[in-house]
Amino acid sequence: MGTLYVNGLIRTMAHEEDVHSAMFVEKTRIIAMGEEGKLRRRFGRRIDQIHDLNGKAVYPAFTDAHIHLIGYGEAINRVDASRYTTLEALGQAFLKAEPVNGIHVAEGYDETKLDRAPTKAWLNQLFPDAPALLKRTDRHTALVNDVLFQQLGYKASTVIEGGKVGLSDNGEADGFLYDAALEPLYALQAGNLERNKASLRSAIKNLYQYGIIAAHTEDLSYHGDVADILQAYKEVTQETGFHTHLLVHHLVIDEFVQQQPTLPSTMSIGAMKLFVDGALGGRTALLGRGYSDDPTTRGIEVHTPEQLEQLVKRARSYGFTVAAHVIGDLAIERFVQVLEKYPAPKGKRDRIIHATVVRPETLARIRKLPVLIDVQPVFLLDDADFIVDRLGLNRLDWSYRLRSLAETGALLCGGADAPISDPDVRRSLYAATEGTAGRVNKTNETLSMFDALLLFTKNPHLATETHGRKGLLLPGYDADFVIFEEDFYRLRGEAILNNRLVETVQAGKTVYQAEAALV
Ligand SMILES: [Zn+2]
Repeated sequence: MGTLYVNGLIRTMAHEEDVHSAMFVEKTRIIAMGEEGKLRRRFGRRIDQIHDLNGKAVYPAFTDAHIHLIGYGEAINRVDASRYTTLEALGQAFLKAEPVNGIHVAEGYDETKLDRAPTKAWLNQLFPDAPALLKRTDRHTALVNDVLFQQLGYKASTVIEGGKVGLSDNGEADGFLYDAALEPLYALQAGNLERNKASLRSAIKNLYQYGIIAAHTEDLSYHGDVADILQAYKEVTQETGFHTHLLVHHLVIDEFVQQQPTLPSTMSIGAMKLFVDGALGGRTALLGRGYSDDPTTRGIEVHTPEQLEQLVKRARSYGFTVAAHVIGDLAIERFVQVLEKYPAPKGKRDRIIHATVVRPETLARIRKLPVLIDVQPVFLLDDADFIVDRLGLNRLDWSYRLRSLAETGALLCGGADAPISDPDVRRSLYAATEGTAGRVNKTNETLSMFDALLLFTKNPHLATETHGRKGLLLPGYDADFVIFEEDFYRLRGEAILNNRLVETVQAGKTVYQAEAALV
């Protein structure tokens, strides 16, 4: 017995114009697509419910292909620094928040959106006696107060491979930590089984509100013991049915392989994750030439080329593919070079994550590699205020190249890297199809709405064993779909951001519904 959905504009996403008005769903599966009369005749008494869609648009439910699920869940319950425009207001909120393992934490500041940039003196004044930590929105830069700086055992002279301690003009530590210098903070903030489960539940609940029912996620080295993190994933994904594909950070890959964990059908394991560079906001993304607004630096190399090679060899020895965070043009070039030397196991794809700044000659090399690229169209909106300063106008041509990346033939998957950015898929669709933000115009690098939707529907599943089961609306597929007020194909500009999600259905069950009064 099942539900017949009628009067809809149901886009299967199998082809650009594949549209049906009705769909029959039984238990957890889609049984048939077609036209109401035909489906009524065919299924007769098996139909025990009719759901009138009233002309609303239906798509396969979304998948975010690059997220940090536990980190996102934690961020939801913390002070969200991105919500404040004055340092004063941020400080007030920060003071009121519950500390985590005794540390006061706020996340997500962006100095370009605040009236003044946060400083160590400001943080010391707020928290003179207790450790305090303020993470930048990209999570590659953090400000710590003196108490925490000392607790970490850092000095102005501390040298950190793959990271750095920030210094003021007179050579004193300014409280800022970059990239690998943040690593000891993870141990101090590590969660336990219960806290990680709670974070996963909050994350998933929020994602349902955006129509997201699956994610490729990377958390295994930041939140405590690997076995405990996996246990949290097992319990919460089985309880919710939310599907997760986990990347394994290289710091925990030996441990992971040793454990040989058995996983439920709601989980699968993907590539070994590593970072080649940092981020553009804090000028730690690795560029071929110096930053336009600070020519003394061209970023941070998290691993030397030799170390990168060793890491990739280790992944291969375990039969793993590799996923690398690469933002700057030099970082991407270095990763591509290692992949050329040590190709992926046959029939598998390595992952290039971000690929924000890419030189034309690197695009040509990507064309020859079996890779998928995790793009975050929404970074265009997030970075618009500082990107022209960082890169200069010439290099802007090499950045946010969605269309060029698609033209390499690599499989493009979409995400928002939450908690780095807002996982609301509408913002990604808007950025991918509009291509403009502030002073930045990338209209030559936009995608069609169909291609933009594929980033969040079919494509992520081509990368995992869920292909053939999720990501499209076809008979035999899981009944995972989203119902929107209007058809994205017909919307332009801000209207894309305002298209209301009415319902999220996962395996035939409603997991999110807009408030009844508004439906
Ligand atoms: Zn990430």
